[in-house]
Amino acid sequence: MRVDGRCHCGAISFEAEVDPETTGICHCTDCQGLTGTAFRVTVRAPADRFVLRGKPTIYVKTADSGRRRAHAFCPTCGSPIYATSADPKFYGLRVGTLRQRRELRPRRQSWCASALPWSSDLEELGLERHQHQPS
Ligand SMILES: [Zn+2]
Ligand SMILES: [Zn+2]
Repeated sequence: MRVDGRCHCGAISFEAEVDPETTGICHCTDCQGLTGTAFRVTVRAPADRFVLRGKPTIYVKTADSGRRRAHAFCPTCGSPIYATSADPKFYGLRVGTLRQRRELRPRRQSWCASALPWSSDLEELGLERHQHQPS
């Protein structure tokens, strides 16, 4: 599936070919911290199908396992764009930056042990619902 996306300010944009079956949610504590929210939604794009415009800032994260991942984000607006390994074969694109994000439904969840306890069922919380920001 062809997708395209951009950071919030538009300084960085990209096009890619993704496999929707690889759309997933990650509840790991690194993703919580790096996104500033409850979990991350990612889809995989092969490196040879990923075309990037603009120059992201790269933050290299070293996991407990020693594995290094390069996390790219916009230096101006801070939008996370992708993560990849030192020798990129795939890019993990941040689904929220994709224009086609509504069509990419997650197929799996990982690191569920660190999921925030309320995140598995928002309906169950019985929250008030607003179509826009309530006044
Ligand atoms: Zn930006
Ligand atoms: Zn994660």
